[in-house]
Amino acid sequence: GKLTVQLPDVQYDVYVGEHVYELFSSQYKELLQSADRVGIIADEQVAAMHLPILEKALADAGVSPSVKIVPAGEKCKTPAVYIDCQSYLLTENFTRNSLLIAFGGGACGDLTGFVAATFMRGIRFIQCPTTILSHDSAVGGKTAINLPEGKNMVGSFHQPSAVLFNTALLGTLPPREIRSGMAELIKHAFISDENWALELLEDRTFTEPTNEWLSVELVKGIKVKADIVAEDEFEHSTRKYLNFGHTFGHAVEAVCGFGGLSHGECIMIGMGYSFILSERHGEITESFTKRFIDFSIMNGYTFEPVLNHSLQEFLDYMKKDKKASFGDLNFVMLEKIGKPFVKKVSIEECEIVFRELQNRLD
Ligand code: NAD
Ligand code: ZN
Repeated sequence: GKLTVQLPDVQYDVYVGEHVYELFSSQYKELLQSADRVGIIADEQVAAMHLPILEKALADAGVSPSVKIVPAGEKCKTPAVYIDCQSYLLTENFTRNSLLIAFGGGACGDLTGFVAATFMRGIRFIQCPTTILSHDSAVGGKTAINLPEGKNMVGSFHQPSAVLFNTALLGTLPPREIRSGMAELIKHAFISDENWALELLEDRTFTEPTNEWLSVELVKGIKVKADIVAEDEFEHSTRKYLNFGHTFGHAVEAVCGFGGLSHGECIMIGMGYSFILSERHGEITESFTKRFIDFSIMNGYTFEPVLNHSLQEFLDYMKKDKKASFGDLNFVMLEKIGKPFVKKVSIEECEIVFRELQNRLD
């Protein structure tokens, strides 16, 4: 599948499928050859499994890239790795006319994007995402690294020149990472399209998707993201909808994510929380929330953190989160499925909803 991200100043194409790397020697040959140097920044684990496929595709396009391997997953989004990448590019004589390729999941994409955004004030880059979750992160131009004080605290908006999403690489994803990515996919359905969301909730193979199924569904998810980003590139309004499930979900991630829960698994919990809020401010029914929770548990997601931690632990984090202001917290809720809106919620109501979620899990 293919779609175009259309922004006021730039546009770029996103290709999804098993043969998309062939485009390096057709569609994108000119782009590659216009660069004086091409560099791959690759997630260590992804490189160990799949780098030859990417290198072969680039060789077919007449390109022999420099390869910088960075730590797998979130550990690459540090200031130290960021600086290391910049120094590497200088050592390898990269210039303002060079091009980077991100080869890994959302973490590697965020790092590479931020390196590209800032090396010599900005060079071009291509996203080659390798996780289901990165159907979300590779599109839209948000790039960042973490600080000890918080996630994504230093970053910028920098759009890629292209996104080539090779679904053939997804076969090696561990179950936890599949669940993580599928949570963002269903989030895209919940905020955009009731029929699609209900379809996903009936899917018996939700966390064991085939490549063919993914090629179709990921394009739908990317389209939701691309349309929202086209409307509101810098998150003044509707781009906030993409944070559905994330206000509480990020807090869960901060409190217990590093003990083994992936981002999407935490977001699934956050969406459960948001559905109860949505019952109070929209038309979501209690029985729908139950259906969502049952579906989640059936597919290997857990709500344990809600039972094992106090609200205070989550609140402490939410108050620090960059979306909080003046004691109230902003949540994305659903008027109904497919119709998101943003609303301020008091600490008292956060508490009521938390207790309610606990009760529903008993
Ligand atoms: P990740 O990049 O941390 O990768 C997770 C793990 O999967 C890593 O260990 C990695 O080595 C491994 N992996 C990656 N591809 C694999 C493959 N094909 N086979 C086997 N293993 C593979 O995780 P992620 O969920 O893709 O990304 C999470 C990151 O994305 C977070 O840092 C988050 O902040 C960021 N993010 C950014 C945006 C954005 O708009 N920029 C949006 C959502 C998330
Ligand atoms: Zn997310």
